[in-house]
Amino acid sequence: MFDALIRFIRDEYRTDAPIPLHAPQFPGREREYLLETIESTFVSSVGAFVDRFEHDMAAYTGAPRAVATVNGTAALHVALMLAGVRAGDLVVTQPLTFVATCNAIAYCGAEPVFVDVDRHTMGLSPAALQTWLEEHAALDDAGSCRLRRDGRAVRACLPMHTFGHPADLDGLVEVCARWRLPLVEDAAESLGSLYHGRHTGTFGQLGTLSFNGNKIITTGGGGMVLADEALGTRAKYLTTTAKRPHPYEFIHDEVGYNYRLPNLNAALGCAQLEQLDGFVAAKRALAERYAALLAGSGLQFVREPAGCRSNYWLNAVICDGHAERDALLAATNERGVMTRPIWQLMNRLPAYAHCLHGDLSVAQWLEARVVNLPSSVPAGAA
Ligand SMILES: *Cc1c(COP(=O)(O)O)cnc(C)c1O
Repeated sequence: MFDALIRFIRDEYRTDAPIPLHAPQFPGREREYLLETIESTFVSSVGAFVDRFEHDMAAYTGAPRAVATVNGTAALHVALMLAGVRAGDLVVTQPLTFVATCNAIAYCGAEPVFVDVDRHTMGLSPAALQTWLEEHAALDDAGSCRLRRDGRAVRACLPMHTFGHPADLDGLVEVCARWRLPLVEDAAESLGSLYHGRHTGTFGQLGTLSFNGNKIITTGGGGMVLADEALGTRAKYLTTTAKRPHPYEFIHDEVGYNYRLPNLNAALGCAQLEQLDGFVAAKRALAERYAALLAGSGLQFVREPAGCRSNYWLNAVICDGHAERDALLAATNERGVMTRPIWQLMNRLPAYAHCLHGDLSVAQWLEARVVNLPSSVPAGAA
């Protein structure tokens, strides 16, 4: 099976050179917009492409506001602050994610609480969330969710749409409403993915995107906060040094952040966004071919959850067990086809090992078995 898989991947990418997990593509107006930026001299924190990128992304996702940031981690940091997360608070998230999710919680002085994921979505499980809250939390007289043991505030819930596959958003929205928890979606991996026809990142109070070099579209580095009008205005203000508008005076009335996306990066983003629908279609077609190849093999190809249209950002298989996982990783990487295991669970990392967690048996089961396969848009397919 491994031989057939390696042959398939080499045929898809039509190369004998090493094949990365995810490489960016620039088939559109990227060069034109970048050149325009340089010729205008507006390469930095002010420029027309930033406004246009924000406007185009709001229109694409259906979010009332989209605010560009210097990277996805900064977007998460600001989104959590706007959700009310403060030092000493707890934020419920999943252990199966990229470390940026937890780091943004730590930047607020808060701590993650790890709750298990669903076997099928690989995102935060509403049932596990409800169970953990029932066992450990209660609503106080003011209606705030607090840890029963010491009264610490559970201030937000931060699910992540793993590899682009939407988490069970109806379930999460319901449990969060019951416990008065602001929902913030880490949609860094799922731009272009739909849950019941609506874009991920628009179901919570706030959502965040990333345009890092390995994401479905890239600005080199960059991110976005998706929000309603009021929170979007706050996000813009906080990410641009908390400056009140004035023609020449410097009026900064609270601690602000220099989290602005440079115009140069936004220019790349505008051109990439024009390609997004093509990328999603090409990646979905690639996923179908992987699924057909692997049907009936020992490797179980990860499909999109029912009722969703996934962007299939990273394709993944579930191996029989740890031994097969290791054999697949070795066979492919030795032959220049890059594959990777899923992240080590966050509760095992030194910075987060002391954090509270519920039963994590599904996350542990996936951790031992999931391998990502090359997922770039095949050349000429965009
Ligand atoms: C990529 C990513 C981010 C943000 O990463 P940046 O490199 O800061 O843009 C956040 N969360 C997840 C799950 C990611 O995959």
